[in-house]
Amino acid sequence: TPLSRIRNFSIVAHIDHGKSTLADRLIQLTGTVAERDMKDQLLDAMDIERERGITIKANTVRIDYPAKDGNTYVLNLIDTPGHVDFAYEVARSMQAVEGSLLVVDATQGVEAQTLANVYTAIDADHEIVPVLNKVDLPASDPDRVREQIEDVIGIDASEACLISAKTGVGIPDVLEAIVNKLPPPDEGDADKPLKAMLVDSKYDQYLGVIVIVRVIDGTLKKGDRIRMMKTGGTYDVDDVGVYRPAMTAVESLGPGEIGYLNASIKQVRDTRVGDTITHEKKPCETALPGFKPSVPVVFCGLFPVDANDFEDMRDAIEKLALNDASFTYEMETSAALGFGFRCGFLGLLHLEVIRDRLEREYGIELITTAPSVIYHLYTKDGERRDLHNPADMPDMTTVGHIEEPRIKATIMVPDEYLGDVLKLCQERRGLQMDLTYVGGRAMAVYDLPLNEVVFDFYDRLKSVTKGYASFDYEMIGYREDNLVKMSILVNDEPVDALAMMVHRDRAEMRGRAMCEKLKELIPRHMFKIPIQAAIGAKVIARETLSAMRKDVTAKCYGGDASRKKKLLEKQKAGKKKMRQFGKVEIPQEAFISALKMD
Ligand code: GDP
Ligand code: MG
Repeated sequence: TPLSRIRNFSIVAHIDHGKSTLADRLIQLTGTVAERDMKDQLLDAMDIERERGITIKANTVRIDYPAKDGNTYVLNLIDTPGHVDFAYEVARSMQAVEGSLLVVDATQGVEAQTLANVYTAIDADHEIVPVLNKVDLPASDPDRVREQIEDVIGIDASEACLISAKTGVGIPDVLEAIVNKLPPPDEGDADKPLKAMLVDSKYDQYLGVIVIVRVIDGTLKKGDRIRMMKTGGTYDVDDVGVYRPAMTAVESLGPGEIGYLNASIKQVRDTRVGDTITHEKKPCETALPGFKPSVPVVFCGLFPVDANDFEDMRDAIEKLALNDASFTYEMETSAALGFGFRCGFLGLLHLEVIRDRLEREYGIELITTAPSVIYHLYTKDGERRDLHNPADMPDMTTVGHIEEPRIKATIMVPDEYLGDVLKLCQERRGLQMDLTYVGGRAMAVYDLPLNEVVFDFYDRLKSVTKGYASFDYEMIGYREDNLVKMSILVNDEPVDALAMMVHRDRAEMRGRAMCEKLKELIPRHMFKIPIQAAIGAKVIARETLSAMRKDVTAKCYGGDASRKKKLLEKQKAGKKKMRQFGKVEIPQEAFISALKMD
């Protein structure tokens, strides 16, 4: 295909604005998939993606489009993830294409991730075609949203496509706009040595690692011996092909084209996104500027509820890590929870997705400890050590000062909820950086400690704004603060899995809340149980769970044996989800619930 007939693009949008639905329509209208194979959100393959309606891993698809000008064009769509945790994946897939469709829900308008994603596209020098979606809904207000796009983002929206990805209205205009408004790929040279970008990779159970590539110069074909310029690995190419969206082998991939290669690569870790792929024999001279590796920022312990599941869990975690190089793990032992893993994630959604997959796909019940960030501990001599787990916090007397990671959070919210949002940010030790208003919406920018955001900030934000706020963040660096380790003692024994780092000024409040919660969550025992929060040896909050007074079956007025049996069985089932700490049993859900602040 000549370059002039290729268009490579991505779709950027805030979550739920209709990106996946639009992709489906584009695929459907061009007959890329037979009607009977069409199902909603074709590109969102994983169950969790479908259920939550989010796109996690970027996917690609090649569409042949006979345009009105009489030519057939090859359209390569890269579907990017929409969630904040995967901002990095968005940035890297943007480098592989020349243009973006900016999808904005015409009933909602510009949201925080619309901004974040469109700025990423602008940074990648994309041509941008605005698309206003959901015009089938009575609440849609294309004129207002058009104005907003121009005011807030600063791009011309006068010729925006008005569409309904749901009903199919306006989709032909989108296809024409892709061909007419987006540029073809930059001039490449098929005769030059191979230079291709490694865009993404994923693990396929049967085929091993599949690498998504974008060819810049040269030609990639089956049988080639390739070298990854950064990692130095060399491989024999077994297959090259394109996604239509099913994998379809092709003879070769030339300049401007996007497709996959399969070269018996064992692990996703052996493929570095942003690496340059070239031929071993006749390599290209200069590598592409690489991307930074994604680094986990949120850590937590994952432990099997049933200690017998540990080996299965290890297998499952290794398998998941094969497909996700941004997920890290190492073995951890906890006095309270036994053997498990300390895992690192790009963010909270990433954490939830991995946890869900372990439970659902591998059938392992898990206890999750409090998510934590990486603290920088400095000794009095100024030497730095990274703390991934509050349980490893050394004695305070050996620590000079502690720095914590901070983020710049952008929150967009209708005016009427602004007060609640500002209050929430204040409570979480936020510093206001900016506050502006655009078309009935406020945009608040805060400098916040990541530590205060990782647990339930997003949930709280959604609840105080009835779901109307949108949120995006980026890391901005480390700053010193007055941080301490708070321990929780149940029946005078510290429960390491509940230890956390907190700001000194908020310790009493957090400690009190934790003790009160635990008092509700831990069932009564035959004896009195003190529940305490402490900093070092100093107790800062205390509750007492009084002893059980009566036999639990007493309320089943004597005679009814079957009810009595049922109750005992129910208790037994409930027990499975308990953990024994000394003489006390703590239900598994306590580890997460105790940390929620409301
Ligand atoms: P994404 O998160 O941007 O990929 O959004 P989805 O494509 O998953 O769409 C989010 C929700 O909006 C789904 O429930 C869709 O069915 C719905 N949706 C998408 N496009 C339209 C549209 O044009 N009209 C209406 N009424 N609903 C739509
Ligand atoms: Mg989607």
